[in-house]
Amino acid sequence: MKCPKCGREYKAEIPPFCICGEELEITYDYSSVDTRKWKNRRPGVWRYKELLPKVKKIVSLQEGGTPLIKARISEQLNVDVFIKDETRNPTGSFRDRLATVAISYGLPYAKNGFIVASDGNAAASVAAYSARAEKECFVVIPRKVDKGKLIQMIAFGARIIRYGESVDDAIEYAKELAKLNGLYNVTPEENIVGLEGQKTIAFELWEEINPTHVIVPTGSGSYLYSIYKGFKELIEIGALEEMPKLIAVQTDRCNPIASEILGIKGECKETKALGLYVREPLMKPKVIRAIRESSGTAVLVSEEEIEKGERLLANEGIFAELSSAVVMPALIKLVNDGFIEKGDRVVLVVTGSGLKTGEGGREKFGIGGTKLEILKILKDGEKYAYEIWQALGKPVKYQAIHQHIKELQELGLIEEAYRRGKRIYYKLTEKGIRLVDNL
Ligand SMILES: [Zn+2]
Repeated sequence: MKCPKCGREYKAEIPPFCICGEELEITYDYSSVDTRKWKNRRPGVWRYKELLPKVKKIVSLQEGGTPLIKARISEQLNVDVFIKDETRNPTGSFRDRLATVAISYGLPYAKNGFIVASDGNAAASVAAYSARAEKECFVVIPRKVDKGKLIQMIAFGARIIRYGESVDDAIEYAKELAKLNGLYNVTPEENIVGLEGQKTIAFELWEEINPTHVIVPTGSGSYLYSIYKGFKELIEIGALEEMPKLIAVQTDRCNPIASEILGIKGECKETKALGLYVREPLMKPKVIRAIRESSGTAVLVSEEEIEKGERLLANEGIFAELSSAVVMPALIKLVNDGFIEKGDRVVLVVTGSGLKTGEGGREKFGIGGTKLEILKILKDGEKYAYEIWQALGKPVKYQAIHQHIKELQELGLIEEAYRRGKRIYYKLTEKGIRLVDNL
């Protein structure tokens, strides 16, 4: 695509801004789009191919086309509420919409593979689609990620690089690594191609119920912005008259976007909704513009309300990750405030599955920690617990070694090699070898 201001051409990665400063946006020939053609195609992201970048080969796992479920809470609130269940995407989150488009488009440019900076869902998804495309995948993730997402990345064979406290730090680092190593960077803040996939949820919602309000969990804001672009294009092609109101939900602990919309002092502390822990969203100006243009608003929820949201969604039969559970308390607040009224058609976007969080909350498996040392020790040969303890050569309780071994086994990084008497010898699994080699 060409920059509308300076004419500079972008072929591979399309950054959000041209080097001349102009904002870049992928556009299409809107006059020729015939939405009647969509009806004859099967549900999913590529059903809307006229409004997606042209690709030579589609890398797909049948993403998109997710169920829209009438919520039981509708009766209680006297409003029509629907849950868009994005947990039913191939890797359990909305990011599969991004991955199918970004990986398909980037395939010719990804000589040495793909890279993404992510707090979890995008990394898990890009890892899956890279595996499908038979390409190497590098993921740059912050120190703390949801355990289930980490297990997905490992299972798909991604090379995992831990960097920084929140995803903000990872983005810069991924950009450098991409340049140095000839990797195609699909981080949404660095390459807007994948956002084109994410916007297809707007087309689905329009076909399904043509909503009046869409409530979106907001971390980086990339999903909210994508949804905005999708509805804007529906207006562009003459299929829709009025944009639904877009509502960003953030937590009262981290709210760089919501605080600006609400005109209050912002916070950016860690929250249990890890997907919403983005301190300085690079897309913030775009996201704020999208919310304002749609006459939408923002809502803050507390850590306690997130737990309540999880239970309320579970009552509906939906198991959401905490970052998605925020939509329920947000809905209740908006109804109480009169922002949503009888006759409105409200969509709650449930972005990711609760299975991704992992049992017992967050995985704190630090790469610099004892576990990594154990992996390195086992790289030199099979050992049993007491030998590992001795080889560590530092004051760790012997009992703790058993716990580390158990957790490393659960992560699929080590396994039993053989037994000699009562001694169980452990060795690295293939995944474990890959992880140690990566670091
Ligand atoms: Zn330019």
